[in-house]
Amino acid sequence: MHHAGLLNGGRMTHGECQCGEVSYVLRCQPRLMYHCHCGVCRAASGASFVTNLLVLSAHLDLEKGPKSLAFHQSSATKRRYFCRSCGSPVYSQSSARPEIISLRSGTLKTDPIVRPSCHAYVKYKAPWVDILDGLPQHPDAIPDGVLLKLFTT
Ligand SMILES: [Zn+2]
Ligand SMILES: [Zn+2]
Repeated sequence: MHHAGLLNGGRMTHGECQCGEVSYVLRCQPRLMYHCHCGVCRAASGASFVTNLLVLSAHLDLEKGPKSLAFHQSSATKRRYFCRSCGSPVYSQSSARPEIISLRSGTLKTDPIVRPSCHAYVKYKAPWVDILDGLPQHPDAIPDGVLLKLFTT
């Protein structure tokens, strides 16, 4: 079956964890790329901040090794999925909004075409990080209004 949505600038968007046990294909172009400065992303990734993509969970196909995915329940509503073999963070999902997945851009193997459009949880950012790119800075989560606009059009 041919899905027009599989093509993204003529290529599929796909990614995998560091060891390759977990890999995925995006069936649609991601709606948003953003930088997350929350302390949990920082600690879970080992980096000063992470760059995530918001995608509809229906558009994320885990290709191989879904059994290699484990999760850490980082809050009452949020699960952070990682490869149990190599530890790479792959995505997170909130039970409050399970249709949206926050995918870790570091696992991408192809250019998703979209580029970062804002910063989230800026009030928690690492003190050694200076934001100089001029993108909008949300002190907490990306506001519901922004998400609604993205996922209802
Ligand atoms: Zn892995
Ligand atoms: Zn975060």
